[in-house]
Amino acid sequence: MDISRRKFFKLTGGAAATGVLSAGRARAASRPPSPEAYGCLVDTTLCVGCRRCESACNQRHHLPKPAESFDELSVLEKERRMDETTYTVVNKYYPRNIGTLKWRQRPTYVKFQCMHCNDPSCVSACIVGALTKTKSGAVVYDVSKCIGCRYCMVACPFQVPAYEYNQPLTPRVRKCTFCFEYVSKGGLPACAQVCPREVMTFGKRSDLLKLARWKIKSNPGKYVDHIYGEREVGGTSWLYLASEPFSHIGFPRLTDKAPPRLTESIQHAVTGYLALPLALYAALGGVMWFTGFHRKHKGPEHDTPDTPGRQGGES
Ligand code: SF4
Ligand code: SF4
Ligand code: SF4
Repeated sequence: MDISRRKFFKLTGGAAATGVLSAGRARAASRPPSPEAYGCLVDTTLCVGCRRCESACNQRHHLPKPAESFDELSVLEKERRMDETTYTVVNKYYPRNIGTLKWRQRPTYVKFQCMHCNDPSCVSACIVGALTKTKSGAVVYDVSKCIGCRYCMVACPFQVPAYEYNQPLTPRVRKCTFCFEYVSKGGLPACAQVCPREVMTFGKRSDLLKLARWKIKSNPGKYVDHIYGEREVGGTSWLYLASEPFSHIGFPRLTDKAPPRLTESIQHAVTGYLALPLALYAALGGVMWFTGFHRKHKGPEHDTPDTPGRQGGES
């Protein structure tokens, strides 16, 4: 292949700089969301576990049909997680007894999906920008950019992204899209639209927080005084109300700090560590290439008779 020296150094220098650029891009990606961002407030006290939301999500996104129908409610007896064919699941949590006190009389049903974090660690961890936080609040995925490293899966504090391991040729990362393509045109998330109990309220996140506070204040004793997602991991677009502690109903205890602060510092440390070796490697490669170039263009008369690679009239 004919390649000029200038072009060569441009390419190798570019390779050495890739890490630095990706770290810079990741830093830019962890900006706080637009104040106009949308969200969903889930009032778990209203949910009856009918799974209509699961079915609507499956249909809208043309996901594979599950082995058992969405009318089958016995699946609720086992705690489930989202996977590559399921963007949302509803789980059932029985009341916990505390000593002789029964905490609650009826089970709590909780719908889970991607939380669409304000400062998403999946976005920050993705070195090629395949995941982005949009102004609408949704965290969206671009399969054309994904290289399948699955850093997003490791980084997510809610263990949401799933991977199509059974698709060897074109595997994708899969997760709730917040129905971005509909919401951006003024529509509703399918799950919120179909819910017969109006468990989910879709709207501006700032308004949803006001509504959640109003609900807590106007219904003394009904809710725990905690809006899950208001502060966890820097805040999330999906917010939850419940009548018992969130740690009893499947939610992880998380700090208020957004994990990208941690993942980026690791990424930057690794990038800093690799930058010098990469630069040296590029420079060494350049010297080797340049030496070979000169030898090649001086012609065979300057080679000793037993120079490997010259025998056979390499041109
Ligand atoms: S459709 Fe509504 S009531 Fe039914 S399981 Fe989903 S969130 Fe709960
Ligand atoms: S819940 Fe996980 S996958 Fe969803 S936006 Fe947050 S970090 Fe990303
Ligand atoms: S917002 Fe859309 S993609 Fe996400 S769980 Fe609801 S229906 Fe599924």
